[in-house]
Amino acid sequence: MTGVATLTNEFVEYVPDDLSVGVLYVCMQYATVVHLCCCGCGNQVVTPLSPTDWSLIYNGEAVTLHPSIGNWSFPCQSHYWIRGSQITWAGKWMPDQIAANRTRDRRAKEGTGIVEEVAPKSGAWRRIIGRLRWLRP
Ligand SMILES: [Zn+2]
Repeated sequence: MTGVATLTNEFVEYVPDDLSVGVLYVCMQYATVVHLCCCGCGNQVVTPLSPTDWSLIYNGEAVTLHPSIGNWSFPCQSHYWIRGSQITWAGKWMPDQIAANRTRDRRAKEGTGIVEEVAPKSGAWRRIIGRLRWLRP
């Protein structure tokens, strides 16, 4: 499996239809970051930016996303960090880690009065992308 080692950033107004592997699309207008899974499987990874989702650090050149990207809803189940636009591969998620993470996410949301689970669910992500597309002129 050939993975991506470095991402390039593209700050976009709208998320494009055709995404390129190795490009991190940052859409500030909708507080959303989108990229294709760095393992090369072609799945679209959407990371919403919010106090209980992901945080984006941009130092003028490179992008860091926190926390890590855990694609446990994809067949590849890849797990990696994006730090300074570099990919650091992490261990695969174990089922109990996934469950623990989902519980933590849910608690974090409950703390802010938002009860929606933030664990990656492709259906919800597709809705976000669909909305972005719909809003495009
Ligand atoms: Zn993948």
